[in-house]
Amino acid sequence: MPIERVRPEILTFTPYVPGLSIDEIKAKYGLSTVIKLASNENPLGASPVVQQALARAVGQVFRYPQNHSPRLCQAIAQAMGVPAEAIVCGNGSDEIIDLLLRVVARPGQDNVVCYEHSFSMYGMMSRMCGVEYREVPRGEDYRLPLESLAEAVDRNTALVFVTSPDNPTGLAAKAEELMVLSGILPAGALLVVDEAYMDFTWPPEEYSMLNVLGELGNVVVLRTFSKAYGLAGLRLGYGVMPAWLAEHLRRARPPFTVNLLAEEAGVAALGDDAFYSATLEVVFTGRERLLKRLPELDCTVWPSQANFVMFRPPLAAGVVCEELLKRGIIVRHLKSFGLPGHIRVNVGTGPETEAFLKSLEEILHA
Ligand SMILES: *Cc1c(COP(=O)(O)O)cnc(C)c1O
Repeated sequence: MPIERVRPEILTFTPYVPGLSIDEIKAKYGLSTVIKLASNENPLGASPVVQQALARAVGQVFRYPQNHSPRLCQAIAQAMGVPAEAIVCGNGSDEIIDLLLRVVARPGQDNVVCYEHSFSMYGMMSRMCGVEYREVPRGEDYRLPLESLAEAVDRNTALVFVTSPDNPTGLAAKAEELMVLSGILPAGALLVVDEAYMDFTWPPEEYSMLNVLGELGNVVVLRTFSKAYGLAGLRLGYGVMPAWLAEHLRRARPPFTVNLLAEEAGVAALGDDAFYSATLEVVFTGRERLLKRLPELDCTVWPSQANFVMFRPPLAAGVVCEELLKRGIIVRHLKSFGLPGHIRVNVGTGPETEAFLKSLEEILHA
């Protein structure tokens, strides 16, 4: 009985596999220090301003938070120049992906379209919802295949996902190109642009859809506090979307999924310009360094607009990752993205990025 009881899409489900934690790596390899460059987290850690706000708020944790985080929605609206009614805050942007699917995609009937080698959450959550997940091939050199996406769409397509800047390649689509895609989608299909890494583009106005969202009517933008704002562990993200859709997401969601401390932290983070600028500074400097140095080590790199770089080493990527682990450096082998020859490394602090490059040089020249 127990097995038959479980839904078939769950039985064939491939769960999300996070990398080993720093403590697990220390124990496994007998290391005292470990540098983690595998999850695109903020190299500067948590902002001191946010830490103070959290300390002030911690005595209030016996209270329920305000449902739908109205203070945070107001702060985001101000900071991003979008109407507060268009914003839905979530327990990570993962929650917004899940809510979108459950609100607009009909199980057993509708489909979701994305391209291969993309963020696994779109496919996982589609399958969880009993919705067909279609993947189109990427363009040459892993370019974002916007035309092929448009061709794969039909009248049962509920959502089309594009990650820009893209994880794991770092490539970004221009806002103009995405506006073309939004214009040719059939009525009823929504274009979801996951802008988790948008903070790291330059100049952001050329890439972000936030400025043009209001004119389009079929576009949803996802943003997160996990990367540039350094709040990955608190789980905080949001979607910006047409107000009618935002209202239905709010109606459908379970209450209080954004906790009280996360809301405080989000408001404080948006006000901490110094930490945000320092983050961009570290990321831009480190990214340039990686893009210059990796080719000198005979690695192929892809131009990145994100806080990480994808590269292909001249040796087997699995072996390179294992050797880096032995030296206390965690990077992301992209096997799980269907790219077994590739590695993704995020920018660390200056010394962390240098330690990675030095170990990589040792391994490749051994
Ligand atoms: C990191 C990341 C996110 C952020 O997810 P959260 O749930 O907000 O932590 C979203 N999309 C992509 C593609 C990412 O890489």
